[in-house]
Amino acid sequence: MTKTAEIVVIGAGINGCSIAYHLAKRGVKNIVLLDRRHVAGGPTGRSSGIVRQHYTIETLAAMARDSRSVFERFEEEVGGSAGFVRCGVVFAASAVNEAALRKSVEMHQRIGIRTNVLSAEDLRRMEPFLLADDLACGAYEPDSGYADPALAANSYAEAAKREGVELLQKTRVVGLKIQRGQVHGVITDRGEIATHTVINVSGPWGAEIAAMAGAEIPITPSRHPVVLLQRPAQWRTPTPVWLDLVNGAYYKPDGRAGILIGSIKPAEGEVRADPETASETADYATIAAFSETIMKRFPVMNEGLAQGGWAGLYDVTPDWQPVIDQIPEAKGFYCAVGFSGHGFKLGPAVGVILAELVLDGRCTSYDIGIFRYSRFREGKLTRGEYEYSIIG
Ligand SMILES: Cc1cc2nc3c(=O)[nH]c(=O)nc-3n(C[C@H](O)[C@H](O)[C@H](O)COP(=O)(O)OP(=O)(O)OC[C@H]3O[C@@H](n4cnc5c(N)ncnc54)[C@H](O)[C@@H]3O)c2cc1C
Repeated sequence: MTKTAEIVVIGAGINGCSIAYHLAKRGVKNIVLLDRRHVAGGPTGRSSGIVRQHYTIETLAAMARDSRSVFERFEEEVGGSAGFVRCGVVFAASAVNEAALRKSVEMHQRIGIRTNVLSAEDLRRMEPFLLADDLACGAYEPDSGYADPALAANSYAEAAKREGVELLQKTRVVGLKIQRGQVHGVITDRGEIATHTVINVSGPWGAEIAAMAGAEIPITPSRHPVVLLQRPAQWRTPTPVWLDLVNGAYYKPDGRAGILIGSIKPAEGEVRADPETASETADYATIAAFSETIMKRFPVMNEGLAQGGWAGLYDVTPDWQPVIDQIPEAKGFYCAVGFSGHGFKLGPAVGVILAELVLDGRCTSYDIGIFRYSRFREGKLTRGEYEYSIIG
């Protein structure tokens, strides 16, 4: 296979598929989107798919706001479905995080996100099975919820194909051709593709691909398990997604009877995993520990039933924020990697950003300076307000 492409996008997760779609939609012909596995075959396919807008950093909140709106109107905007369920999201906090939470909610309201602060008593009224004794308040977003990440990525890939994008699955990038500081091609295990523009959206493999262009991006691939429990018969009533800033966990309703639990504790991101060999199942100790955690917030889960779980990889950077930038080491080489466990909900906005960066030379829709490649070298990291860095 020897081909020529205007742009090659490496990685067909939610972000790669959205980027390919947005570039094609803006008129670029001859885009190749490739993945060593298949669409959503990496972390996107393991994702919990929570679509919240609550971030303490305004750029992220604005990206999440716009992306949520796309997920909700996916069929009209993109075509196909993202499987969006508008069940609401609550960020529940103790007094420790109350001031930061109230400040964030003010910012959210200013930028047009529908959200408000509820007291612990209000939260208990909203969800009678909630144990709220250690909570001070919660930020409620009625319009948020969760989507189906594999479905959303596949719908973007299908929409991209309708716009003329060529999707190459089971095609692994093994090298980049760089001559005199300019990208000239992509070397894959199925042959070469001549191109002057490459976008690296390869998640936990992001540092490996960046290194092929002589760039250094600090990414720690780390393993994140989630556990699925069946709710007992008395708790089959609708409930929102809960982000529990006290116990460092989230609880996401899954259909009518299920509830999915994951951790938001940053310590998990510090253990480096080998992306090639990391286990994709949740072990017994994790199922037991996560079951204990949810029982602290919803004691009724004492009667719940563990149904198993799985694990996926995060691509964690030192400040838990992505690098979205053109890389000076190689002209024509762009990166959108290091989403650090919160990149599904941002997918639609990431597509817009990369299309602007590549086609207009700069992004005008969002202030993306906080995602610049040089920030690690400068020692100027992008920190959120909460102790849980994943929130951002
Ligand atoms: C368990 C879990 C729960 C999560 N929950 C949430 C959540 O609730 N909400 C949220 O917003 N985010 C969540 N995330 C994070 C979110 O899923 C990711 O940030 C997002 O899916 C990343 O998408 P991506 O397109 O950037 O990359 P990825 O999905 O990582 O895709 C990268 C792709 O690149 C391909 N690739 C790698 N190397 C090569 C190569 N050499 N050649 C060709 N292809 C290559 C891989 O096969 C892969 O398909 C979660 C993640 C996990 C693991």
